[in-house]
Amino acid sequence: MNKPALAVELQPLLQGSVRVNESMALHTTWRIGGPADLFVDPVGREDIRQAVEFARSKELPITVIGNGSNLLVKDGGIRGMVIKVGRGLAYITVDGTLIRAGAGLTLPELAAAARRAGLGGFEFAAGIPGSLGGALVMNAGAINGCTADVLQSAVVLDHQNRFITLPKEEFGFAYRTSNLQKTGTICVETCWQGIPRDPAVIEQETREYLSRRKALQPQGFPNVGSIFKNPPGDSAGRLIEAAGGKGLKVGGAEVSHKHANWILNVGNATARDVLTLIEQVKRRVMDRFGILLHLEVRVLGED
Ligand SMILES: Cc1cc2nc3c(=O)[nH]c(=O)nc-3n(C[C@H](O)[C@H](O)[C@H](O)COP(=O)(O)OP(=O)(O)OC[C@H]3O[C@@H](n4cnc5c(N)ncnc54)[C@H](O)[C@@H]3O)c2cc1C
Repeated sequence: MNKPALAVELQPLLQGSVRVNESMALHTTWRIGGPADLFVDPVGREDIRQAVEFARSKELPITVIGNGSNLLVKDGGIRGMVIKVGRGLAYITVDGTLIRAGAGLTLPELAAAARRAGLGGFEFAAGIPGSLGGALVMNAGAINGCTADVLQSAVVLDHQNRFITLPKEEFGFAYRTSNLQKTGTICVETCWQGIPRDPAVIEQETREYLSRRKALQPQGFPNVGSIFKNPPGDSAGRLIEAAGGKGLKVGGAEVSHKHANWILNVGNATARDVLTLIEQVKRRVMDRFGILLHLEVRVLGED
């Protein structure tokens, strides 16, 4: 594949930028990941449609990312085209109790706008550093709510390369998953239904919630939040801790001493380090409790 030639051909079709061999470590909160062949940073949804059409015409595989806060990109990087749905789709408008926002806006930005407009239901979103597109894919949430509770509909690019609006029932939301994980459909816009609530009460609750999170969560090293989903009726962190997993280390990757379901990049960790550590943790929990832990984090790319 002649990557520079492809970039030169694609660039005039877009308002946003096209880059070659872009390090994915720049686009993941873990600061880990090899290069993407072609990296597209779109400005607006039309850029996304053009980039997808181009990739299909050249038979390039397409990978979509948001804020990279739930991603492990392997050290060999990603072949084909990566489209980052980010700042170029970060608009927001509030109309009564409805909030419409581009898929590149972040959950904390959504929560702040809702708070200012006196709309409740988004308190959970204040501490989750993902994009709204990534939130739909993961059904991001916390103890006080999740994406599926407040989403009304979303605009996606269908397989005929048309933008269509789907109601929330079409997304098959369940615990930290939606059917976008299987279909790979790209989300470009989201619409949310708020509930009128006193902004001062929202503010107070959000402040308390964020300080509780801060007390429980490791700080200071790149990470992606929880690694494994909680098994039914239990907590992955509790199981890993009880199996002696806290502090396990491979290369620059370490199981947090504070929260055993978090793996920190404590110094130039590679994806290989993280994957080896993940296997060690899974084996310990299986040997001790007979429970198979499933990844919440999404793994992309090649070795
Ligand atoms: C400090 C920290 C705390 C966290 N706390 C929480 C928490 O409390 N609760 C929680 O649920 N998660 C939490 N997370 C994880 C993460 O923030 C969420 O999973 C978030 O929803 C991921 O969004 P993202 O934009 O970063 O997606 P990415 O990590 O970029 O991608 C995740 C998946 O979504 C896909 N994707 C992204 N954007 C789109 C799009 N526009 N269209 C189609 N597919 C897309 C990607 O292909 C990938 O499969 C935390 C992470 C960190 C670093």
